[in-house]
Amino acid sequence: MSGFIAPGATLGVMGGGQLGRMFVHAAQQMGYFTVVLDSDPASPAGLVAHHHVQTGYLDEQGLARLAERCAAITTEFENVPAAALQALATRRPVSPGAAAVAVCQDRAAEKRHFANCAVPCAPHALIETAAQLDAVPDHLLPGILKTTRMGYDGKGQARVGTRAELAAAWVALGGVSAVLEQRLPLAHEVSVIVVRGADGQIVHFPLQQNLHRDGILAVTQVPAPDVPPSLQQQAIEAAHRVAESLDYVGVLCVEFFVLQDGRLVANEMAPRPHNSGHYSVDACELSQFDLQVRAMTGAPLVAPRLHSPAVMLNLLGDLWFCADTLAPEVIREPDWARVLALPGVHLHQYGKTTPRPARKMGHLTVTAASAAQARAVAIEAAGLLGLPAF
Ligand code: ATP
Ligand code: MG
Repeated sequence: MSGFIAPGATLGVMGGGQLGRMFVHAAQQMGYFTVVLDSDPASPAGLVAHHHVQTGYLDEQGLARLAERCAAITTEFENVPAAALQALATRRPVSPGAAAVAVCQDRAAEKRHFANCAVPCAPHALIETAAQLDAVPDHLLPGILKTTRMGYDGKGQARVGTRAELAAAWVALGGVSAVLEQRLPLAHEVSVIVVRGADGQIVHFPLQQNLHRDGILAVTQVPAPDVPPSLQQQAIEAAHRVAESLDYVGVLCVEFFVLQDGRLVANEMAPRPHNSGHYSVDACELSQFDLQVRAMTGAPLVAPRLHSPAVMLNLLGDLWFCADTLAPEVIREPDWARVLALPGVHLHQYGKTTPRPARKMGHLTVTAASAAQARAVAIEAAGLLGLPAF
């Protein structure tokens, strides 16, 4: 096939976090060499890649070294500056492209894009000036104020009930560009991951049902236990439209809310593999990282069949601390041996040496012959680790 980058070539990734690490694993399994650009000498992906360019995202020499070394470049971190991706794209194929990533980096642009694709999202208002703050319509309260840029894992957000709280929260967020969203009555949270090739071919993973705690993903279940097939189909079609109209190349995740009245509303999207897709490594014929490699190398995209029902539990740094103290001297290793004694448990750790509360240290996927069995084992594993049931 034309434009296919065959195994033996070197693939590059911007960002050295756990998503980059799992991308590197998938690329290496297929026989590619890998290079990671990340300034952290101990980054999870840098530790396992063949080459590690230890510079910032906008370092010209670092970008030049990355481009020299590899045949194609992808990203694992959604806040890589668009300028860096543009600079790389003058020398090598970069997927996803800077323009698509820029839309995902800006909540206001993202919402405009959803609207252009006829995908509903939460009623909202852009707040960049004191006048816009004053002009916010009453029906957006109670709401959630979110910075337009750089938010993740619930950071850069504030729940506000009144106009006074809104004004105080905007000041506390630094008076930066922000979006006030109406707080919606959620029944469930779900996500859809699609993968699109440069030739326009597109495949998707089954819909994921996600449980968040304190704004951070805690549990993903696939198949989604509480979402009717027609709504699942609606979400999948919406995610396809979102990717197609961005002329997207690579892995894209769209997060949705299912409201208590049954409506589907888009929340946000991520221009990269997603935490809610980690189960695919153990439960699908091709993982989201395998398909990231295929999309950037021009390899055929094959629909990733779920071969086992799965439940994924995130392992946050909190697990390394005793419940009543965060003192570093009481860091202890969770009792992995007991968890690993359960059937169908796949433990993933990202090579991070310093546990911190709310830091994503790893995840655990439970696969089983039935969804009920996967759930039962996952609840048992959660209990052994001191995590709440779900
Ligand atoms: P991520 O880590 O997924 O990038 P984030 O920090 O960008 O997260 P959001 O996904 O916008 O944040 O919100 C985090 C969580 O807050 C959501 O998963 C949901 O539980 C809740 N939430 C966000 N917006 C709303 C809303 N409009 N109404 C009700 N709940 C909301
Ligand atoms: Mg989110």
